[in-house]
Amino acid sequence: MNQGEKSELLHRLEQLYPAPQSELNFANDYQLLVSVVLSAQCTDKKVNDTTPELFAKFPDFRTLGSARLPALEKIIRPINYYRTKAKHLLASAKLVEKNFGGKVPRTMEELRSLPGVGQKTANVVLNELGAAQTLPVDTHVFRVARRLGLASADTVAKVEEEIKAQFNAGSWRDLHHWLILHGRRICKARTPLCGKCVLNDLCPSAQLGAEPIALIRPKAR
Ligand code: SF4
Repeated sequence: MNQGEKSELLHRLEQLYPAPQSELNFANDYQLLVSVVLSAQCTDKKVNDTTPELFAKFPDFRTLGSARLPALEKIIRPINYYRTKAKHLLASAKLVEKNFGGKVPRTMEELRSLPGVGQKTANVVLNELGAAQTLPVDTHVFRVARRLGLASADTVAKVEEEIKAQFNAGSWRDLHHWLILHGRRICKARTPLCGKCVLNDLCPSAQLGAEPIALIRPKAR
């Protein structure tokens, strides 16, 4: 895709998904961090169905850090890997209270010091906080970027660098959300809806039309 086509791509995505934002429901920084940790390997819908009770019982890091593990596990049980995530949340809440005065840290290094917070989770949190210009790559971003020819690498970290190198840092946050939304609604993993896709004249994979496109997943590293 040449520079003009990339500008057109951004323009069309903006028209399609104006004011893009996370589909997780959160009202403050605490809820953001907890929701993003819970959303790893889990749908936003399931997280959103679970967090109202969680946030009602544990409204901040202090209360979450003093929760009993079984009580926490019971609430987040519908979430994939709930046992591990409950342990991570409990430990993270204690650390945020102890090391960061009860506030979500705003650097990659500090965020990654928390259990259960890897690079992608930290990137998403920093992105939402507006604390850094990042372009977190999840399964949708990975797949759609590769189909669009914006990336060809086989790891999340490399794909992130490939995409970032082609776009102004000011567009990274929106592009992250646009690729996720497009991946969920149109460029679906098993059956991309190329016939309905407003990007199909720009997309090198569109020639496959309604035929299923090989499911592409990132390597772990
Ligand atoms: S044309 Fe097809 S493969 Fe390309 S972005 Fe659209 S849905 Fe995905």
